[in-house]
Amino acid sequence: MTIPGLMQRTPLTLDMVFDRLSTVYADGRIADVEGETTYGDFSRRVLRLARALTDELGVRPGDRVATFGFNSIRHLELYYAVPLLGAVLHTVNVRLFDDQIAYIVDHAQDTVLFVDGELVESLARVAPRLPSVERYVRMGAGPDDLPGLLDHDELVAAHEPAHDLPPLDEDAAFGLCYTSGTTGNPKGVLYSHRAMVLHSFAACMADHIGLREADVVLPVVPMFHAFAWGLPYAAPLTGAELVFHGSDSSPEHLGRVIDDHGVTLTAGVPTIWKSLLPDLQSGELAAEALRLVFVGGAASPRALIEAYDELGIEYLQVWGMTETGPLACASRPRRRHRGLDREQLLDVRERTGTIFAGLEARVTDTAGRALPRDGASVGELEVSGPWIASAYYGVDAADRFNDGWLKTGDMAYMEADGEFRIVDRAKDLVKSGGEWISSVELEGHLLAHPDIADAAVVGVPSRRWDERPVAVIVPRDGQAPPTLEEVRAFLADRVAKWWLPDAVDVVDEIPKTSVGKLDKKVMRASLDLILD
Ligand code: ADP
Repeated sequence: MTIPGLMQRTPLTLDMVFDRLSTVYADGRIADVEGETTYGDFSRRVLRLARALTDELGVRPGDRVATFGFNSIRHLELYYAVPLLGAVLHTVNVRLFDDQIAYIVDHAQDTVLFVDGELVESLARVAPRLPSVERYVRMGAGPDDLPGLLDHDELVAAHEPAHDLPPLDEDAAFGLCYTSGTTGNPKGVLYSHRAMVLHSFAACMADHIGLREADVVLPVVPMFHAFAWGLPYAAPLTGAELVFHGSDSSPEHLGRVIDDHGVTLTAGVPTIWKSLLPDLQSGELAAEALRLVFVGGAASPRALIEAYDELGIEYLQVWGMTETGPLACASRPRRRHRGLDREQLLDVRERTGTIFAGLEARVTDTAGRALPRDGASVGELEVSGPWIASAYYGVDAADRFNDGWLKTGDMAYMEADGEFRIVDRAKDLVKSGGEWISSVELEGHLLAHPDIADAAVVGVPSRRWDERPVAVIVPRDGQAPPTLEEVRAFLADRVAKWWLPDAVDVVDEIPKTSVGKLDKKVMRASLDLILD
């Protein structure tokens, strides 16, 4: 019922962002490895693509359209064309195993699949196991070996712009994204238009991420990982320009993209910023325009935050999950931190931060009761709000929710003013003699060791203590790896004695997941060790 005299009730849907980028910011640039366009020209191609999707590919509201691609302008066209016609955009992680790809495409019942030219061959291998897919479309040049393959650009060229798109419901499904399965099978999260719009506004707030028209934004986070953290929507909402780097995430290529396009703001997992550091420190990469690097997906080691500080580039730690929009928290110092010295401020920024306005967070005990916000009581972090999942798509996972709150699987403690720190993922905490040890904290200290280039800590079974920590380390180039005694001596005045690792495993490379996080499942399996 409408109350007379009440303000307008405009639905919060994607066309709010699309109309703005196509009119107010029509002159804004978008670039990828193939070339450049403007938001104005981009919006006309989106409308042609929307027409092709309905008229030629038979896509109807509610249908799932999958993408299998890296970051590019064509991929961005689908980010808009698919939800604008009421269909659901499903971004498939291209680095999953064939079995996982077959599983999620079947689970989502995708009917059309857009694939990057350079990924056609790898998709062709799994295509016979994707019975729901009726049509394949290739984005860019590449081989033809998929049944009935169409070409993205030809589709766009062959159709008139769709100026008669259906009105959208803010509570309609907008996009589908599966968790990357770091700790289990991929589970689908179904985003609504309303959630996406509110998430975009929230990301733009100055103390959250803080985007503006003058920014040139490079999402290094892949477009198949939680919608590139929402940047393809949040950036155009402010008029910020977008740059896409394609499939090459090497520091050389990213460095070139940052310098060539005058990137001011970029985002990705800590591993990426670690890999760019040597070129930034040597001056090889000037990154003169770069003002903000925001980093999530895993905790950021203090040494990394400090290294960016020394370069004069702001390093902002953020927290989120596929299930949380995904951005939900940023670690910006608060009013009460004014006057702290450099080291103390680093302590603050190393914490996870404060939940975004619009969302709520709490920490609960194993019975699901809220714990005090006393800066000490550790429990499971739970979150709720308009861009938090209320269930998983098509699976019963009631145990992941507590009275409407999403259980994050992250263990944290919270201060009275809501600032919180994640100590570890529940599954990665090392449970030793009835107490827990934070693998994240140990990793942070190990990375400060001059002879250690990369490190991870995993719990391995122990006859006496249930589990004990083992440090998996990569020595710095040309350095002899530190021995167990040296590692323990280095950590001795940083952590409690019973936290010190029981063994050191020296490796050439730390295994990483499909989205660049430490792959502890693989490390635990390959250690295959039982300690006393
Ligand atoms: P997956 O669950 O498959 O890894 P997500 O990308 O959704 O996929 O991962 C979300 C998880 O990443 C969080 O639950 C948390 O454990 C971790 N994470 C994200 N940001 C941070 C952060 N700033 N500090 C610590 N952990 C983080």
